[in-house]
Amino acid sequence: MDAHDQVSVLENRWDDATAAGLSPEALLVYRSNLLGSDKRITNYGGGNTSSKIAMRDPLTGETVEVLWVKGSGGDIGSIKLDGFATLYMDKLHALRGIYKGTDQEDEMVGLYNHCTFNLNPRATSIDTALHGFINHPHVDHVHPDAIIAIAASADSRALTQEIFGDEIGWVPWRRPGFELGFWLKKFADENPKAKGLVLEAHGLFTWGETQKDCYETTVGTINKAIAFLAERSRGKVIFGGERIAPAAPEERRAVAASLMPVIRGLISREGPLKLGHFDDSPEVLEFVGSKALAALAPLGTSCPDHFLRTKIAPLVLDFDPATQTVADLLPGLPAALETYRAGYTAYYERCKHANSPKLRDPNAVVYLIPGIGMLTFAADKATARIAGEFYRNAINVMRGASTISTYRGLPEQEAFDIEYWLLEEAKLQRMPKPRSLAGKIAFITGGAGGIGMASARRLMQDGACVMICDIDREVLETSRQELAKTFGADTVGTVWADVTKEDAIIAAFRETAATFGGLDVCVCNAGIASAAPLEDTSLALWQKNIDILSTGYFLTSREAFRLMKDQAIGGSIIMVASKNALVASPGASAYCTAKASELHLSRCVALEGAPLGIRSNVVNPDAVLRGSRIWKGEWGDQRAASYQKSSLEELDEVYRQRSLLKRSVYPEDIAEGIAFFASEISSKSTGNIINIDAGNANAFSR
Ligand code: NAD
Repeated sequence: MDAHDQVSVLENRWDDATAAGLSPEALLVYRSNLLGSDKRITNYGGGNTSSKIAMRDPLTGETVEVLWVKGSGGDIGSIKLDGFATLYMDKLHALRGIYKGTDQEDEMVGLYNHCTFNLNPRATSIDTALHGFINHPHVDHVHPDAIIAIAASADSRALTQEIFGDEIGWVPWRRPGFELGFWLKKFADENPKAKGLVLEAHGLFTWGETQKDCYETTVGTINKAIAFLAERSRGKVIFGGERIAPAAPEERRAVAASLMPVIRGLISREGPLKLGHFDDSPEVLEFVGSKALAALAPLGTSCPDHFLRTKIAPLVLDFDPATQTVADLLPGLPAALETYRAGYTAYYERCKHANSPKLRDPNAVVYLIPGIGMLTFAADKATARIAGEFYRNAINVMRGASTISTYRGLPEQEAFDIEYWLLEEAKLQRMPKPRSLAGKIAFITGGAGGIGMASARRLMQDGACVMICDIDREVLETSRQELAKTFGADTVGTVWADVTKEDAIIAAFRETAATFGGLDVCVCNAGIASAAPLEDTSLALWQKNIDILSTGYFLTSREAFRLMKDQAIGGSIIMVASKNALVASPGASAYCTAKASELHLSRCVALEGAPLGIRSNVVNPDAVLRGSRIWKGEWGDQRAASYQKSSLEELDEVYRQRSLLKRSVYPEDIAEGIAFFASEISSKSTGNIINIDAGNANAFSR
């Protein structure tokens, strides 16, 4: 969304032809997906939709009324039928008789299970009562920035009345649950002509007699708010005007690339590793460079969804790119982060109850840097990106509210009670255990090749994010697509570089830092193969091998080392050398010598890296024919010819028989060695070598 999106109205995307013939449940999915497909209607994972549908009871065969309501978790933009919880309406109403007061809120959630229709295992959300008690067949609850801007204004009630008259009501802030469900029911019962209401500081509820009505009321209501905000904002100074002008785009990214590893190191030292995300979109730059930043940022976000993802307030760094460089910013970082942690801990101590869950990670999620943009950090890349999107929602809300009125964040105690709600804690406890490489960032040169891609897949399978670096642009892109499809677009990045070029390698590591926030694993792997008897080895061929295999591994490991040193949480450098690094082969002096130098380079890196927790190890492949692009070209033909074989399959058989174990070696086998050195399982190994060659007595290391 750009800074002007608030004035662009939503279009009505309901299509009668698509809707015709859909069952009521399918229509609910259609309506939900339409609403969720536009982030101006609701943020990722935010809001929920419901329909009350007559269904045949599987037990009695009778027709019963069933509430279909989005279950806990998920996103309405992509929800499918199985994302909805289903509850018998009569049983849900029966719970009203059990509820005695707000002390019982948490208990009531457990009772929803007794209302389940058709053994549906989807967990019910805490918003279920809000939908179920409104006496209209279809209900939407969304978090549009334009509505929350009204809802988070100091005079939110009067503004709601002014914009919507009696059509849309207003209720004061209240945490979602049974009590709020009663408030909504009361309003809807007493105002039969009303079509919805604004929840103070939170969002919008709308309803309709048909699914199309409901959708159109939601879109129409948001559009009224968008138009009102645009009208009222016309000619007004946004956020008090500019205080600090944005730096040029390349400078912004360079500052982010320098800052992110340092912040990542400081916030990952005492807990799980974090992944970072950088955002310098126009609305972020407008906010971070504004005069109002200092006053607005500490007020915190408003909508519960926003601050659950972003923490109650961001950390603002003092910076002006016009007069300072990143070197001025770095020395103050540890103290700034510590101040934030102390502030968060004090908030916890002030607000906690006797039964509150333990203090969670006190580090900031959102970092705002005037002139540069916003950094967000979380346990995985998608969560870091989404936290940034949520803060952008919060910025949109603050822009609207502070332009037409006075912005108000949620009161601290209310925010705490949501953040440390036992039900939220239970949700966190239900999350699956992180995988062994979760939070790790790996960089692989020659990443689009056979061994490179097998390693990327293997590391990503265990939860790592991977930056693929290669000289072949075309294969780089197809590799990215393949990995994104299997592991998700957030977890893979690609960067072009020729490993022999110093500038290109420096830029590739900067890009890695700006994309993911730092580096934990570097796999030096880009390579070629060549063969020629010594007397026929040209200087050019010699130099090519030295450039790519020796200098390339040096430049890559040096930049990885520098980045890991800045980050100060150790790391693992892995060099994919070769059996030929240990065993001289006739007719390949340039290749063998260059490969042997990688081995010794790794040992030198291991020596200098040890005091910094940076490990360096070698994986030696041999005869990996399948999947390797080296073997597809001239090299494969030459080797086959020298053994009088006509195909790679026949050649593979020669190598298989040559090995001690009589087995072929595949890229996936090499990837296992790389995964071992990448993971904490090998945390006590450095300066080591693993041969993955199906056994070769000459290569036994000693
Ligand atoms: P591959 O050809 O499939 O992959 C190598 C990748 O490196 C390619 O994607 C290529 O584009 C890239 N590359 C080449 N020159 C580059 C440069 N200057 N800058 C950036 N990228 C460049 O080969 P592979 O079998 O996957 O080999 C990977 C590594 O394993 C190499 O270092 C190779 O020497 C080593 N190795 C392979 C074997 C084997 O039998 N396949 C045996 C021993 C060692």
